[in-house]
Amino acid sequence: MEERRSYSLKKKSIDIDKIAQVCSDCGNCLYSCPVYNAELVEPNSPRGKINLIKAILDERLKPNKLNKEFMFECLLCGSCEYVCTNGVEYLDMMIKYRNLIFKEKKIPYKKKIILYFYQTFILKKLGWFFKILSKTSLKKKLTIPGIDNINLNKSYTSDYSKDFDILLFPGCVLTYFYSSQIGKIKKFLENKGFKVALPKGLKCCGFPYISQGWEKMFDKLKTKNINIFSDIKFKYLVVPCGTGVITFKKYYGLNGVEVYELTEFIYKFIKDSKVNLNILEEEHKKVTYHDPCHNLKSLGIYKEPREFMKQFGKGFVDDKSELCCGFGGIFSVGFPNTSKKILDKREKYLKETGADIVFTSCPGCYMQLRENLSYDVKFFIELFD
Ligand code: SF4
Ligand code: SF4
Repeated sequence: MEERRSYSLKKKSIDIDKIAQVCSDCGNCLYSCPVYNAELVEPNSPRGKINLIKAILDERLKPNKLNKEFMFECLLCGSCEYVCTNGVEYLDMMIKYRNLIFKEKKIPYKKKIILYFYQTFILKKLGWFFKILSKTSLKKKLTIPGIDNINLNKSYTSDYSKDFDILLFPGCVLTYFYSSQIGKIKKFLENKGFKVALPKGLKCCGFPYISQGWEKMFDKLKTKNINIFSDIKFKYLVVPCGTGVITFKKYYGLNGVEVYELTEFIYKFIKDSKVNLNILEEEHKKVTYHDPCHNLKSLGIYKEPREFMKQFGKGFVDDKSELCCGFGGIFSVGFPNTSKKILDKREKYLKETGADIVFTSCPGCYMQLRENLSYDVKFFIELFD
């Protein structure tokens, strides 16, 4: 009986094991990990988590509440992968591991409710509720979204019969909380001569589900999105979110579709776009750019935003800290204290730049910085207002 159990675990986990075995225990990744730096506990480091996974797969250790907790106290930010010289594919390993051990029935009830609730239209109607919450002491603990929504009904595409250049995938955070940015993105791309399709049913790429081990829900959402994609003739899938880009490239199997993160799309195809210099309405003001982890560390997007930011001349101060903001989606709900420590460090480095205005290209970072810090935080597309 015991033998059979061991065989089945090994068989199921062969991919995870292969990735974990690449780790040589060197520890180079420790300094890059925001969670480890916040908590300074080895099992909270990438190396520590890899060793826990190895021990569980070898059945030297049983999955228990404590090591489960460690496995989820990770932002999936990719900072460890970015610095690892051995090429450990940490994100893929962790996602596969979570999906292996946290089968649907084992996902904690509370988490399931949050994730389920996240996919419903109700969220969009709760601006008033978030406003009330933001006036309570919870505001100090959790990132409560402010709402900046506009009615997009006129922007949605209803006629799919023509050929489009771009299918704009808006992503969940902008759809639910900051839809005015979606309107700006669409208008900007159209003004630059692109035919843009914005289908109404698209919301989330599914990363919140697959990253939490809820594969069944992810598959449902993926099928729904792919069905919508297949109704439309388009050349480029443009996503204003690095996490979404990773999800489409790695977990969708979209053969023949060119997927671009918005910043890299604008850099590649409309590099001559002029930024609105009036953003620095007072001469002494400074702007900086916050690198979203997935953009920088997983997609390698670095020069693209800076090429535009440089148009501010001396008004642009480059923040090269490469620090995480501590959001990580559901991570900030599950581990608010760690998230806050990471954000505090981020704020300290932002202060050192002396900037007044912070641009970023990730909807999650935008929410985290905008709702928790006293900076004027802007989404990348607002450079070109
Ligand atoms: S993940 Fe990479 S950097 Fe970290 S300990 Fe393993 S081999 Fe070293
Ligand atoms: S993905 Fe980020 S938070 Fe998770 S272990 Fe790696 S560096 Fe740390």
